Amino acid sequence: MNQQPKLSLARRGIHQVIKLISQLGSKNKLNILIYHQVVTQRDPMRPDEPTLDEFTQQMALIKQYYQPIALSKAVELLAQSKLPANSICVTFDDGYLNNMTVAAPVLNAMAIPATLFVATRFSHGENMWNDNLTDLISDDNRNKFDLSLIGLGICFVETVDQRRKLAGKVIMKVKYLNYGERAKLVNQILLVNGRFSAPAKMMTPTQLQEIALSGFEVAGHTQDHPILAVLNKQEQHQQISQGKGELEDWINGEVKGFAYPNGKWGKDYNETSLQVLTQCNFNYAVATDEGISTPKTNPLQLKRFTPWQKDLLKFHLKLLINTVKPTV
Ligand SMILES: [Zn+2]
Repeated sequence: MNQQPKLSLARRGIHQVIKLISQLGSKNKLNILIYHQVVTQRDPMRPDEPTLDEFTQQMALIKQYYQPIALSKAVELLAQSKLPANSICVTFDDGYLNNMTVAAPVLNAMAIPATLFVATRFSHGENMWNDNLTDLISDDNRNKFDLSLIGLGICFVETVDQRRKLAGKVIMKVKYLNYGERAKLVNQILLVNGRFSAPAKMMTPTQLQEIALSGFEVAGHTQDHPILAVLNKQEQHQQISQGKGELEDWINGEVKGFAYPNGKWGKDYNETSLQVLTQCNFNYAVATDEGISTPKTNPLQLKRFTPWQKDLLKFHLKLLINTVKPTV
């Protein structure tokens, strides 16, 4: 595999300058990238998911201009204020099979470590509720959907753009419901519209064990991917500790890291979530709040940031800005 990003000479010079600026201002500052899926072909319903080619280029860029490091190791070094300049971590949320089939070969070829945060309910062939809704609405054999159950009535769509917007609207309508109620409602929507089947998208326990054995870190992401902030302490504890226990059984190893579903402080997780993680002996947790983490950052509230730019120079510049802008 070509491990050099495809760049013209002029662009290579600019990237080198960005690297040097970053080098000067990035000791003890940790960039953590967040991904979900890496797809072999552009998925028009999920246009932000990088293709294999885009992901390969991004990984080649961080290999060339940063120091990719395992997240658990980075957390230790950050706590001791010994994190080298230009350190960067790669993470994936949810446990998609294409992390193993598409992303892992790229990461292995470049010796880039990564952490996979897995919601365990979806490891036995069932897809995530949001994917079920997206797949239903993306089905181009249908252009009429009965969404009366969530107050949207009968909706007609023709273009992919309309389908994507409708899927986004439906997901937002149900996302913040308690996970039990949400699962029930999504099943009803699927039933009303003629239940359909889609290939299983997530890794199984055996695949998780395999990927853990091959050197990837497997870490917690609850069982049902609930919005923790809408749950009481007992429900949060159940979701977090049982998800951890299942993963530990499957990979036959310890799970020390966690990612908050959806991941925004206050809105998606709260003080109670932090208490539960401490009780469950997690060493670190990552949010989706953007920014950079320093030795002063609570290790249970590490920030994550991915520049979604497809252009590599913009991607690199955004990372630089994230690194050098003053922290709050
Ligand atoms: Zn997630």
